[in-house]
Amino acid sequence: MTDTIFSKIIAREIPADIIYEDDLCLAFNDIVPQAPMHFLIIPKKPIVNISDAESEDKTLLGHMILKAGEIAAEQGHGDNFRLVTNNGETAGQTVFHLHLHVLAGRAFAWPPG
Ligand code: 5GP
Repeated sequence: MTDTIFSKIIAREIPADIIYEDDLCLAFNDIVPQAPMHFLIIPKKPIVNISDAESEDKTLLGHMILKAGEIAAEQGHGDNFRLVTNNGETAGQTVFHLHLHVLAGRAFAWPPG
């Protein structure tokens, strides 16, 4: 996997508004927020997207989802948030390092555009 803007954020080569970090993952606010709360959770392990993940990543992926809920709760949105991952270019993925979008603070339409 080649370097992405997110691997540069992990390496502190470019700045980001980091709101959580542990040995497995990093969470930071999206630079172009689509809702009053919009942060991203990324694994420190370089994984392109869910299609690229393997069964050995099960614990890591579960950890990221649970952290999404915990951080949303810390920000006052524990009961209502949207968790999204865009998997592949046609699905809207623009940064090819796996990330979960966590959005809250407004109503969301369904189906998504
Ligand atoms: P995707 O389109 O791949 O699902 O989502 C990529 C997200 O990364 C977008 O919401 C975009 O605003 C965000 N993003 C892109 N570059 C940066 C950056 O340099 N810093 C931060 N914090 N977010 C970024």
